[in-house]
Parts: sequence; C-alpha cells; structure tokens
Amino acid sequence: MKSFKPKQFRQQFPLVVNNEGNRLPVNGSSQISSSLPLVYFDNGATTQKPNCVIDSYHSFYQTTNANVHRASHTLSVKATTAFEHARNSIKTFINAKSNKEIIWTKGTTESINLLAMSLGRKILTHGDEIILAVSEHHANIVPWQLIAEQTGAMIKIVELDAMGRVCLPAFEQLLNSKTKVFCCAHISNVIAKINPINELIQKAKSVGAITIIDGAQAVAHFPIDVQALDCDFYVFSAHKMFGPTGVGVLYGKQALLETMPPYQAGGEMISKVSFNKPTTFNDLPFKFEAGTPNIAGVVAFSKAIEFISAYDAKQLCDYEKQLTIHCYQALQNLTVFSKKIVKFIVPGLPDIPVISFTLNGHHNHDIATALDSYGIAIRSGHHCAMPLMEYLNISGCLRISLAAYNTFEEINYFIDCLKKILTQESDASLTFTNKRDVNEQASAMIITQFAMVKSWDTRHRQIMLLGKQLHRLDKNMRNEQTLISGCESLAWLVSQKNSQGIFNFQADSDAKIIRGLLVIVLAAFNGKTAVQIQEFDIESYFKSLGLIQHLSPSRGNGILAIVEKIKKIAL
Ligand code: PLP
Repeated sequence: MKSFKPKQFRQQFPLVVNNEGNRLPVNGSSQISSSLPLVYFDNGATTQKPNCVIDSYHSFYQTTNANVHRASHTLSVKATTAFEHARNSIKTFINAKSNKEIIWTKGTTESINLLAMSLGRKILTHGDEIILAVSEHHANIVPWQLIAEQTGAMIKIVELDAMGRVCLPAFEQLLNSKTKVFCCAHISNVIAKINPINELIQKAKSVGAITIIDGAQAVAHFPIDVQALDCDFYVFSAHKMFGPTGVGVLYGKQALLETMPPYQAGGEMISKVSFNKPTTFNDLPFKFEAGTPNIAGVVAFSKAIEFISAYDAKQLCDYEKQLTIHCYQALQNLTVFSKKIVKFIVPGLPDIPVISFTLNGHHNHDIATALDSYGIAIRSGHHCAMPLMEYLNISGCLRISLAAYNTFEEINYFIDCLKKILTQESDASLTFTNKRDVNEQASAMIITQFAMVKSWDTRHRQIMLLGKQLHRLDKNMRNEQTLISGCESLAWLVSQKNSQGIFNFQADSDAKIIRGLLVIVLAAFNGKTAVQIQEFDIESYFKSLGLIQHLSPSRGNGILAIVEKIKKIAL
C-alpha cells in the first residue's frame, strides 16, 4: 500500500501538471502573454486522468487490440483476458459476489436506463409506485418518467431533511405495498451529503421494493461494499473516478439479473439465433452487453482502479476532507465590503469535496465565466438537477468539486480571484463607454473598442461593463412569450417595427454576461430593415470581436439562439 503524498499524486495527472511541475495554460490564457494556471475544480463532472490510464489506451491499441469473446486467435484471447480481468477488478473493488454481477455500460446514465427499460418494464404495472428523492440527477429521474408513462406506474418524491439528506420519516410515509422501486443517489451531485443509505435500503426492502443506488458521486470518494449495503443494484461511471469516459458499471444481484429481459439486442448477448425458433440469450453478464463494448476503455478503467487502490484510502480521504474544510471555511469567511456574501445551498460541511453555493446579488454564470478568465474551471447552473433547484427555490448555483490532486494553494488562488471579481464588479468607477441607449451603439464602434484589447479577460470585463448599459425590460415584458429558448440563462426579446420598416429590439437577461452580449447583438441589428437584418454577416461580426471562440458551447449556442430569433422576427 502506497502512502498518499499530495504532490506526488498530483504529478501523475498531465493535464493538471506537466512533467516539470508547471501548470498548463488554458482558456483565455492562450490570448495573453503570461499563461495562467489551470485550476480544475469541476471534478464532480469528470476527473482528469492519470498517466497510467492514458498510457493504457496507447498500449492496448499497440499490443492487444482485438474483439473480445468472438475469436479463438491469440490476440482475441489476449484482449478478452484483459477485458475480463477488468471485470474481476471491479468485482473486487465493490465487493460483489460474482463477475456475473458486473455489467459494462456507457456510464451511470445507461445503467439506469437499462434498469428502467428492462426491470421497470418487467415488474411495473398500472398504479405501482417508484420512489425517487427530490435531489436526484436527471439521469435518475427521466428514465423513470419514461417508464412510468409506458406502464402507468407513478413517481413519488421524497423530500430532504434540514441538512439536505433524504428524510427518513418522509420516506417511511411514502412506503406501502405498491412501492416497487426505490432509486436514490448515495450522494447528490449538488448537496454532497451521504444519504442514510443503509436505513433507506432496509426500509424499502421491508415493503418488497427493489433498491437501486446511484453511486456516481460516492464511488469516487470512499470505498463501496455492495454486499454490506445489500442493495439490489448499484451504478456508477468510470470517468468520475480517474477512469475514461464512455465506461460505466451496473452492479446487480445475480438472482435479479437472471430474471430480467435483455435491454439491447445484437451480437454477443445471444445464445442461439434462428429464423425458425425463438432466439435464446447468453448467460450473465453477456446477456446485457450487446455489440462490441468499449474494450480499450474498460481495460483503461481497470488501470484507474489499480491506481486508486494502491493508495492508503484513509490518507487520501483525509486529504480531501482537509481541502474541503479549507475551501468551505474560506468561502464562509469571504467578505466583500465587510459583508458576508456566500450562501451555501444547505447548511453544514459537505461529506465529499463538493461545495455548492450562491453569491448574494451575483448571477452564477457571471461568476463562473469571470473565474474562467482566471483559468479556474468551476460549474454553474442547475447541475442536471432542475427539480432540486426548484425545491431549493433557486435558479441554479455554483459548484466547486475537488479531487485529491487539487491543492490548498489552488483554493487560496480561487478565493483571491473570486474576491477580486466581486470587488471589481461593485466598482462603479469602471466605465467602458458613456451610458447611452443601445440603439445608438453602432456595431462598428464596438468592434473598434474590442480591437484595442488583446486578452480575453479584458474583453470579458468589457462585456460585463456593456451589460450595465443595457436598458432593462419592464418586469411584465419578461414573460413566457418573450423568453428565448435555447439560452442557458434566462433571456427575453421584444421587437418593434416602425412605418419605414425599421426594427428596434430590446432584450434582457438575468445574467450580466448575457446582458453584455445582448448589447453587442442589438448593436448589430437595431435600426435595420428586414433585408439588412437577413444580410448582416453575424459570424464575421462575432469573429472580429474575438467572441464566439471564448464562449462555452452552451453560451455560444444561446447567443446564436438570440440571433436566430431576431432573424425569424424580421422574416
Ligand atoms: N448521477 C449522479 C449523481 C451524477 O453526478 C451524474 C453525473 O454527474 C450522473 C448520475 C450521470 O453520470 P454519467 O453522465 O456519467 O452517466
């Protein structure tokens, strides 16, 4: 067993640290002379990969590549051995009873879809009940909604206790003889508190319900023993625990898997196929693995398991805990103009290094975009948990998710940058141009002003300042009719056409960055006729501003959705 040494551990992740120990430049930093460090705080979405996982791909395709289970030639045997060895590693890692209980999938999402479509279709009938927690990821909501619609089953929602964990008494009240499935995250990807999973599983079992645990966030942070948990199914993704994308696991008790019909059909999952007799299916686990699997990915995943299992788990967990406490307290103590500003979405320190919060008076997307210009990657939005956002009565939040390769210095840098952003944001003396009506903002003038600055972070500041010049729409004009769909943040657009056929658009958004981008878009289209609007080369305009390439795809798509809507109105 290797002792966990943070510096040495970090050195294994080339995207985070290059061989000399210098951090790699990312994002806006490519535009400026001195490169910014990458601070990767989005590990809850996916972790970076250690060298052994990256090397495994290279080595597999150079020495082992063949299809599995199909041929008797030596290379296929070699590939199959590596593939099945990986299954055995996972079996040991989560303490399953047999390799037959480990099904390879694309990830947590596919594992849950498999269960909903195979098991759900088999056992659910009209009036049956499925219990989900309000804090579930969409991956653990939508498949059940689809199957409920197909079978006539109903979804019941269990709420949370004051600390953000699934509320046991509320759960007990929902349980009855109609409860057929209970599907719950071991830990929510937003709340980051360990749910009382043992009690939940036992209570669900007492009414004969099938128990499915979404371990996507849990498995990356502490050891899982599926036999001790005694759940029926446990699902997770490789990419959140230093493994590759496109590989996931469905653990299921053998007796239950045996009773379930196949999910997808094709090669490898069959025993005998005939046009004259019914097709028969392969044994477990192959019955659920139709087609050629992600062989190289599965083998690389076993390297990630070997990598992480080599370290003293307690030391690694302790380090993550220290990072969490440091970051949590720094956020808690953060003051801007002597005012505390951070609001955690639930009270108390999280159980895994995932911290979700909002900042009073600031839009989450604005903060995440501003941090990105300092090289800091954090997540903002609904985190694929829209019902949870609704339950907490927030439109979204910011989420920092750490891994064992993160450092105290990175957290300090993040806090410093955040403070800088928040104080600059409040600095009323910063002005880009004189306050004026957007109608008068000529696109040429914006291009000229943008041309004078080279770096993305200065451009980003300018966009934010432009946002301050946007005339806000009246509240009653921000409604369903004026809402622009396809935008990550809320954005509204209204239009007027005068007797000469000249258009005037007004727009608004709840995010400052989008308000700034709206000024730029409106400057291009306001005061133009329908023909001029159609003919305006928006791509060149954005290009000359050096804009689209720096926006996240979702934000870029949001801006393009606004342009689309303007063009549609002009038509
Ligand atoms: N469940 C939880 C709790 C998650 O955090 C995630 C991903 O963030 C998922 C499910 C979906 O995982 P994947 O996208 O790997 O299928």
